[in-house]
Amino acid sequence: MNPLLIDAYGRRIRKLRISVTDQCNLRCRYCMPLQATFMDKDRYLIPAQYGEIAAELQTYGLEEIRLTGGEPLLRAEFAEILAALKPLGFKKLGLTTNGILLDRYLDCLEVNGVTALNISLDTLNPQTFQTLAYGRDLTKILNNIALARQRRFQIKLNTVIMRAINDGELFDLVEYARDLDLEIRFLEVMRIGYACQNQSQWFISAAELIQRLESRYRLTPLESPQDATAFSYRLNGGPVVGFIASESQPFCGHCSRWRLGADGTLRACLLKEDGVNLKNIPPARRWELYQTLLGLKPYLRPPEVPHAMHQIGG
Ligand code: SAM
Ligand code: SF4
Repeated sequence: MNPLLIDAYGRRIRKLRISVTDQCNLRCRYCMPLQATFMDKDRYLIPAQYGEIAAELQTYGLEEIRLTGGEPLLRAEFAEILAALKPLGFKKLGLTTNGILLDRYLDCLEVNGVTALNISLDTLNPQTFQTLAYGRDLTKILNNIALARQRRFQIKLNTVIMRAINDGELFDLVEYARDLDLEIRFLEVMRIGYACQNQSQWFISAAELIQRLESRYRLTPLESPQDATAFSYRLNGGPVVGFIASESQPFCGHCSRWRLGADGTLRACLLKEDGVNLKNIPPARRWELYQTLLGLKPYLRPPEVPHAMHQIGG
């Protein structure tokens, strides 16, 4: 049996986020600019390479995988990537998506063992969606959430909440999620990449949101796993609302996640641009690189970072 990936602070790596593309069909203002630049597609790993790296990390204790991007469903070989991961039988295989193309992939996701879907939904208002994400597909996203809801996925909605942009929809979003019997999680806007320019004016802490919710609901805290990034509450004994408070309550001290970029760069943290590129490294040399990476994982939350979220894989 191989050793586990455990760093000097006792943090064990058991989750991997895999970015399969840095491209996107939206332009959320906190994530990428209108005129974004993308890596050449010939730098992408091929589907079998994602499978090979995931299989190797599994022998060192990796348990969960989530596919992300950019928008992962834009990757032409998305189905092949899933097919390469499915036989590995991870405890959890998840996807984070903006939902625009979800209807086309529901069968593929089900067949390939994806159980956990995180769908980003920042607003219920088409005008706000246009302003915030340069998107015209809100109806499509809402329809796709309803379609996914009819299947057996465990679905969570992810909302980046921003002052004077969508915070006025806090209760509407909670009620929308409650009506569909879905968990909704509010993300603090992070000081990363393009968000840095406006983060201080947009930022609302989870504590403030909780206070607002308490004006209308009774909140009961729920238990979460030690390495969870979110904490959650049950509202009035019914819907569950979570918070990812990466700015006001960072969780770096118990983070169990590494990130694999679309080009094969393995990173210890979303907020660290440096990593190790595995693309042309033979498996025999990788253990050494994994040790280097364990040492690169920050214990304290790095401050504002310049690199773009969609390039690392959010
Ligand atoms: N395109 C997919 C989506 O939007 O769900 C997956 C990639 S996206 C980068 C992953 C998540 O990161 C989304 O929920 C998005 O809202 C979140 N995100 C992007 N930039 C962020 C920022 N500056 N602060 C907080 N969350 C951010
Ligand atoms: Fe695209 Fe997701 Fe970034 Fe929005 S958050 S621009 S949907 S990658």
